[in-house]
Amino acid sequence: MRAILMNARGGREVLQYGEVPTPEPGPGEVRVRVKAVALNHLDVWVRRGVASPKLPLPHILGCDVAGVVDALGPGVTGLEVGLEVVVNPGVSCGRCERCLSGQDNLCADYQILGEHRWGGYAEYVVVPAANVLPKPEGLSFVEAAAVPLTFLTAWQMVVDKLQVRPGEDVLVMAAGSGVSVAALQIAKLYGARVIATASSEAKLERARALGADAVVNYSSPEWYKEVRRLTGGKGVDAVVDHTGAEFWQGVIKATANGGRIAFVGASSGYEAVTPLAHVFYRQLTIYGSTMASKSRLYPILRFVREGKLKPVVGAVLPLEAAAEGHRLLEERAVFGKVVLEV
Ligand SMILES: [Zn+2]
Repeated sequence: MRAILMNARGGREVLQYGEVPTPEPGPGEVRVRVKAVALNHLDVWVRRGVASPKLPLPHILGCDVAGVVDALGPGVTGLEVGLEVVVNPGVSCGRCERCLSGQDNLCADYQILGEHRWGGYAEYVVVPAANVLPKPEGLSFVEAAAVPLTFLTAWQMVVDKLQVRPGEDVLVMAAGSGVSVAALQIAKLYGARVIATASSEAKLERARALGADAVVNYSSPEWYKEVRRLTGGKGVDAVVDHTGAEFWQGVIKATANGGRIAFVGASSGYEAVTPLAHVFYRQLTIYGSTMASKSRLYPILRFVREGKLKPVVGAVLPLEAAAEGHRLLEERAVFGKVVLEV
């Protein structure tokens, strides 16, 4: 099959177009003919060797796949060749205590498609049968591929960890990113008033169009004061963040007494200074978060089908242009998802 092979760790040049044998589905697995695969910042971290640095090479990236079931492994029932599907990127053992309690992203054997196993920058991908869901009607393969990882990640933060309630003020940092585009919409769905930050007027405008009630340009060093002003001096009740060290103190200062912060990743650096007085004296709660239970893709896709959550696609490229897609991601050149058509 045709694929983009990652032959080394490093710059975009390590992504090379080539051919590898088409994988065969094992017991309980299905093979999906990939139609579209969305890019995530995780792909860049893996390519650079920041995430999963000991991964055997060559590797195939790609967490977010939409396609058509192409072959069934032994023992697979309830699925048919030809079914149009969205692939759930979280793979787990399915029988441990964590998995059985709906916390499969805490399973000791948890894997992310495209990070710990070959992903979708290819004509075909093999996944457990539990990982395919019917593609919502009315959604193109490109739009469908833009949903799973970012909406799952945002859902766990907004719904499961922060437990956002109607009428709360929610701050969504870096609104142009895939996770933030999803978090903004989910927070609105839950009745919050959303304040979104971004670094350019164009991105702030897009955030408004997606439903943000107020926007703040966080390239100014005292951006958090504007957030406090917008909330009458109170600060926000909950924050969705992944911006890292550079903005961390501002995030804490933008949060109301008793507020909650959930963060997934730390784009500008992992070594942040936490003003602990704010955390205990103002009784803040800080949640680390990554991915979500596979089960969460069911409500997400129902809301997508109803048009209440919308995948936002910023650029569509052919599979061969994966390296160019990484450039768009690394330079934060697009609002929304970069998707490769296969
Ligand atoms: Zn498990």
